[in-house]
Amino acid sequence: MPIPDSFLQRLQGVVGPKRFSTGISNLTLHSKDESFHAPHLPDAVAWPKSTGEVSQLVRICNEGKIPVTPWGAGTSLEGNPIPVKGGLVIDLQQMNKILEIREDDLQVDVQAGVVFKDLNKKLKQYGLFFPPDPGASATIGGMVANNASGIRAIKYGATKDLIQQLTVVLADGEIIRPGTLSFKTSSGLDLCRLFAGSEGILGIITEITLRLTGIPPEFLSAVVSFATAKEASSTISQIIRSGLSPAALEFIGKDAVRLINKYTEEFNFPEAPLVFVEFHGTNREGMAADLELVREICEENGASRFEAGIGRQARAKLWDARYNLHDFILREYPGLEPMAIDTAVPISKLPKIVAFAEELCKERGIIGYIFGHAGSGNIHMPMMGNPNDKATWAVLEEINHKLVAFAISLGGTATGEHGVGIGKMQYMELEHGNSLKVMKKIKKLLDPRGILNPGKMF
Ligand SMILES: Cc1cc2nc3c(=O)[nH]c(=O)nc-3n(C[C@H](O)[C@H](O)[C@H](O)COP(=O)(O)OP(=O)(O)OC[C@H]3O[C@@H](n4cnc5c(N)ncnc54)[C@H](O)[C@@H]3O)c2cc1C
Repeated sequence: MPIPDSFLQRLQGVVGPKRFSTGISNLTLHSKDESFHAPHLPDAVAWPKSTGEVSQLVRICNEGKIPVTPWGAGTSLEGNPIPVKGGLVIDLQQMNKILEIREDDLQVDVQAGVVFKDLNKKLKQYGLFFPPDPGASATIGGMVANNASGIRAIKYGATKDLIQQLTVVLADGEIIRPGTLSFKTSSGLDLCRLFAGSEGILGIITEITLRLTGIPPEFLSAVVSFATAKEASSTISQIIRSGLSPAALEFIGKDAVRLINKYTEEFNFPEAPLVFVEFHGTNREGMAADLELVREICEENGASRFEAGIGRQARAKLWDARYNLHDFILREYPGLEPMAIDTAVPISKLPKIVAFAEELCKERGIIGYIFGHAGSGNIHMPMMGNPNDKATWAVLEEINHKLVAFAISLGGTATGEHGVGIGKMQYMELEHGNSLKVMKKIKKLLDPRGILNPGKMF
């Protein structure tokens, strides 16, 4: 049901006409994320600038039972911010202030709409950084809400591990501030971790205090080629089990390597599975010894090429190429949409899931670009297709379904870092069993009228 005019006027009254829109171009911009999921228009978009404004907007929506969907930068890959029931989108992008940097405590207070790349630019002058990196230009609020992680989670943790304190607007407009500025606490239930990964269904996060890390003065990287994906993935789990502590351990399958060669000028890797390894630290000699151990493990597993001694510039280009893989895949198939698979398994099961994914693609004659943050057992496999070509799309869905179900059967998860959104709702029961009932009770308790990002997660 569209928002009644009287409520539209009251909502506009909170932020003023310049920060409120019912115009079709703004509605369209807030109807779709970066996924293949069908767009859905909201009825209105508001751009609040303060927690108080968010609270007033949500209070009015709760009174009118109007759906409210928070919006960060819309870079989700599972339809997470698509306002499937219409209503109001609250776009947090104008809440983009870095409020306070406390370098001695390694902490920063930010508004939810700060883009993490902008935050890291600012923090650089203090020798600090916020390690989670989803590649896309995501907001900190969106990263908390999706519990984003990325390439460095293996060493520094995911977003949820780095939250000290949150300011959250609940469904009735009440403002709470869970968490503490202390590094340690055993006081009460951990509400910060409840809101992390809650995808806007429990409350709207307006401010966040993050724990930061010092920028490591030294790094050492290597690129290793293997004849088969099985060798590469077995090597990754062995490196982790050997007690080494890499800052990144990425797997890139053969087809994805071909695209890096095609779309970059700098690289011409053998067309074979690759592993990127990186160490961060203060002591170059110590890291060189670690890398030597990695070399031994790789060679024992049949590595065909081990390239270490990569300079600062080449390393930056290497990571750019890795981040740009998503774009390279889109460029390779103009007009088609990606179905981006994201699963994670216990590290010892990595070779099994990679072999299963390869086998599925071969069997069904589909190219699946396997790559991922393999050091944390997290594998992605975008496949391209046209959602209107029902027969091919059904094959992609079948592959997605089989791979996710297999990951869960191995003790893994339907989503390593992209969240549930629309795409992974169907696996919640399979993955969580009767814990799902508890999640639903929490949702009911915090949002009894069901206004917050309705139609998602459950
Ligand atoms: C090319 C590409 C690569 C990616 N790689 C990675 C990766 O490596 N690792 C990774 O983790 N992710 C990755 N992502 C996914 C995405 O970037 C992350 O999930 C990111 O955290 C989304 O942030 P956002 O600001 O765009 O949030 P949005 O997409 O706008 O929203 C995310 C969800 O959170 C809710 N939400 C947004 N803001 C708030 C708030 N303030 N309070 C409450 N709820 C809110 C929304 O309703 C939605 O459900 C990638 C995306 C792309 C396009």
